[in-house]
Amino acid sequence: MIPTPYYLIDKSALLRNLQIIDHVREYAGAKVLLALKCFASWSVFDLMQPHMDGTTSSSLYEIKLGRQKFGGETHAYSVAFAGHEIEEVVIHCDKIIFNSVSQFERFESLAGDKPKGLRLNPGISCAGFDLADPARAFSRLGESDVARILSVVERLDGVMIHNNCENRDFARFDALLSEVEARYGEILHRLSWVSLGGGISFTAPGYPLDAFCERLRRFAEAHGVQVYLEPGDATVRGTTTLEVSVLDTGFNGRNLAVVDSSTEAHMLDLLIYRETAPIGCGQGEHAYQICGKTCLAGDIFGEARFDQPLQVGDRISIGDAGGYTMVKKNWFNGIHMPAIAVKELDGSVRVVRTFSFDDYVNSLS
Ligand SMILES: *Cc1c(COP(=O)(O)O)cnc(C)c1O
Repeated sequence: MIPTPYYLIDKSALLRNLQIIDHVREYAGAKVLLALKCFASWSVFDLMQPHMDGTTSSSLYEIKLGRQKFGGETHAYSVAFAGHEIEEVVIHCDKIIFNSVSQFERFESLAGDKPKGLRLNPGISCAGFDLADPARAFSRLGESDVARILSVVERLDGVMIHNNCENRDFARFDALLSEVEARYGEILHRLSWVSLGGGISFTAPGYPLDAFCERLRRFAEAHGVQVYLEPGDATVRGTTTLEVSVLDTGFNGRNLAVVDSSTEAHMLDLLIYRETAPIGCGQGEHAYQICGKTCLAGDIFGEARFDQPLQVGDRISIGDAGGYTMVKKNWFNGIHMPAIAVKELDGSVRVVRTFSFDDYVNSLS
């Protein structure tokens, strides 16, 4: 048995999402790029490559990872490129997207003949959390002002607009896109591509895929552009679990189980967005709060029900552990970092990375 803790990426589940992505590529005519900031576990890129057109990035390192490990089209984007990075960024990318007109003007000549884009910020979004809302007050994410954008539009090949966030509601997506069209109508038709970013939950069960594809196709035709999508979460939702073992149990008004992992170190977004993880699907009579092993008082994964009382050594699968987990894991409390394992299409499980005390030491000095 593989020692816990470890992330387990299920290729069969991933393939189901990738087949939906293929459907969107075919019926919407959209190109689809993996957002590496959400998921960059390159051991499964071989499965993903035939179903996605490439990667998009938030930094020089992601650009290089995308180029080296994924291939296809490599889009470069960063909230701000540094002067010492730009040469390498340009070498490794196929398109470069600037966050501001000032970054565009500073680096335009260094980008040579690589297609150039600008991030637009329409000032509207569907994010429920201010922290993750690109349209928040005084946002630094992209240019809003039409006149300012028009001043450079002749030198742009495309734009990127990322203003959806875990948006499961097609009507909301449709309405937001219509507002973008109304606001930037005189800009869009002068471009050859528009990336609509990520944050659209189109791989979720029940999402109206046909209407989504039709809407994207209509957008592309109306403005004469190639549409790109940049799904992170939608690519990996429901594909990965965090496998943990019970280290201790107790009762303090409710049943508690402490496991050999931690939200803060291994599934940080649960804390940031105040969510709980789906844990098992048991409906048994024994309810437990599943807790992490760091000293953080609120290090709690969530609630789960079991048929039998939990015992030390029992294994638990924590769901939805694919997006924004492995890319964010850290050494808080010096606890053991989960290994990464892959469940192949034939059901066999292969450990692809383990971490040790030396990795902890080498992350510090
Ligand atoms: C975060 C981000 C994505 C991916 O978002 P998901 O919600 O994971 O789909 C795509 N594009 C940009 C510009 C982003 O900032």
